[in-house]
Amino acid sequence: MPDRILRAMSLPTIDHRGPEFAVLGKRVLAGVGQIFQTRHPVVIYPASGTGAWEAALSNVLSPGDAVLMYETGHFASLWNKMALRLGLKPEFLAYRGADAQLPNAPGWRQGVQADQIEERLKADTQHAIKAVCVVHNETSTGVTSDIAAVRRAIDAARHPALLLVDSISGLASADYRHEAWGVDVTVSGSQKGLMLPPGISFNAVSPKAIEASKRARLPKAFWAWDEIIEMNQGGYWPYTPSTNLLYGLAEACDMLLDPTHGGLEGTFARHRRWGEGVRAAVRAWGLPIQCADPQLYSPVLTGVLLPEGVDADAVRRLIYERFDLSLGTGLGKVKGRMFRIGHLGDCNDLTLMAALSGCEMGLKLSGVKLAASGVQAAMEYFAGHPAPVALQK
Ligand code: PLP
Repeated sequence: MPDRILRAMSLPTIDHRGPEFAVLGKRVLAGVGQIFQTRHPVVIYPASGTGAWEAALSNVLSPGDAVLMYETGHFASLWNKMALRLGLKPEFLAYRGADAQLPNAPGWRQGVQADQIEERLKADTQHAIKAVCVVHNETSTGVTSDIAAVRRAIDAARHPALLLVDSISGLASADYRHEAWGVDVTVSGSQKGLMLPPGISFNAVSPKAIEASKRARLPKAFWAWDEIIEMNQGGYWPYTPSTNLLYGLAEACDMLLDPTHGGLEGTFARHRRWGEGVRAAVRAWGLPIQCADPQLYSPVLTGVLLPEGVDADAVRRLIYERFDLSLGTGLGKVKGRMFRIGHLGDCNDLTLMAALSGCEMGLKLSGVKLAASGVQAAMEYFAGHPAPVALQK
């Protein structure tokens, strides 16, 4: 998190019914619209991303509705579990490549296969499936799925299902276009690319989703879009909003959209380049990248698979204790097999070099055989590929 955002959040909390508040409310709503790349409403909740997941499902669906979900990793699995708990009937598609039955969850190294979605929707001639739910950037694996391809698959099947996308970790680091990609509900959260503390989350909604919400019968009260969207017109919320997080959000939007640093395109380019630098290190170490498809490498984070028999969490623990560096743990089916290096939010070449140094020292101390120095490879990448001045931060 940048100091600029922390300082913005330290302002006194104003009256959320007073006139000054409307200025802030309108400012953040306009800003997030640009970040999601939509002209339609973005609903902001004082909740973590999990709340916004529930909001997305409960606003547009009815008890017993069939939904098509796709297993890309731990977060897709949790969303699927939530759909079950809400009384929906989720069908969980999974990767079906030739190696699908091998151990270590090969499907968790791939993205959403849009052709499978198209095939399944074409078979649903009665249109029982009401929504397709996919994760854009799977934070547990570092795989970024092609959302435009999922839209094309739904259109090719001529199916009316809504498209619901979790871009909790993708938004504001990876290219994301709610409106151009024809997404009906995009779910996101504050604590990733938006560089804020956890605590607020989002539903960007399409006119089709708003129409669906008028007929949907899953119980919803706090999450219901209608009253929020209505009060947002004046810059207010029907309940007490997270005022100080909204100060931070206004600042984050200014930073991410700042044309002197290339605007959103500049933001995406910075994260792509940082991802390249980190992957140069992982390749030099001779360790596999969790994402097996180079087209889908995440600009947000990189998952690093460790050799069979090495406990990735023991390596993480050693790195934490010796070097005060906290790496993301392997989650769900890849627990103990891999760790994750984040290159989202407020980072730069040198913070990443520090993280890679911590990894390299810790891997060596743990007895992991490295082919070459990843630190050296990343230094060469960053030095040899300067970011255009306008895109530097
Ligand atoms: N979906 C994805 C892709 C995530 O990365 C996360 C959290 O890391 C969640 C959902 C859940 O969000 P939260 O932990 O903010 O409730």
